[in-house]
Amino acid sequence: METYSVDIKKDEEGYLGRECPECEKYFKIKPGTGIPDFADCYCPYCKKFAPQDHFWTKQQIEYAQSVVLNKVSGDILKMMKKVETKPKRNQFISIGITVKGNPTPITYYSEKELEEKVECKNCTLQYAIYGTFGYCPDCAAHNSQQIAEANFDLIIKILDLAKDASPDVKVKLIENGLEDCISVFDGFARERCCKQYPKLSFQNIYSAKQKLDESGINIPEGLNNSEWSFVVKQFQKRHLLAHKMGVVDEDYIKKTNGDHKQLGKKVSITETDVTTLIIHLKVIVSNISKHVERS
Ligand SMILES: [Zn+2]
Ligand SMILES: [Zn+2]
Repeated sequence: METYSVDIKKDEEGYLGRECPECEKYFKIKPGTGIPDFADCYCPYCKKFAPQDHFWTKQQIEYAQSVVLNKVSGDILKMMKKVETKPKRNQFISIGITVKGNPTPITYYSEKELEEKVECKNCTLQYAIYGTFGYCPDCAAHNSQQIAEANFDLIIKILDLAKDASPDVKVKLIENGLEDCISVFDGFARERCCKQYPKLSFQNIYSAKQKLDESGINIPEGLNNSEWSFVVKQFQKRHLLAHKMGVVDEDYIKKTNGDHKQLGKKVSITETDVTTLIIHLKVIVSNISKHVERS
């Protein structure tokens, strides 16, 4: 059997398309980044582990086959052209052969655009996936902590922009920043804990803590009591923003040991509240990453 090798091109950004032999989902990696000369690959979605050459996409294989067929059929046609003969005169029977036809065409393809581009913090591989969360195709590290941290840093950048905004816009951006912090945390923790605690919401961090306590995981490990109370209070503020137009109610006062004089007033949220919350949430995110294996 003859073997041909076909060059599979990277896309304009240097990514190579991949398809998992197990779940058949599509992703991309940037050759030259990540673990040097790593001959194997993890699927970022299902963690299937196999040699790199098991991850060709159907389109790449179809393309490679068509390139080979194109070459082989072209060669055959050329060979046949050489034996092409014209009828000669003065012979008893004269048969001419004319060779017609074209080599089989090449099936071209292009790589797809993907939603999330990640550079693995652990091994520096650059990869692209559908959705947001996944495993690194080189080192299998789950990207949930990295994605959460990047989103927290984005909130801080938006707060920086808020400094020059008009007072009403500034208030709104800070409130949005607080809500975003809780959304990022909830998205991260749900993803991280989806196997062990499939229905647990992390928008109420106090009850989430109690639930994880049962498994011996202390999510505020490293924070002191007043820092933890501060975190719980910011989550309660978000609850007011989301459900009460930011107006303080009895429930809020009870849960935060608040002052009754605040009842019926708008809750105040400062930029420092949000940036301090982010510092503490990063600690909690790292604790959850450490103790809850995303398997
Ligand atoms: Zn897979
Ligand atoms: Zn990695």
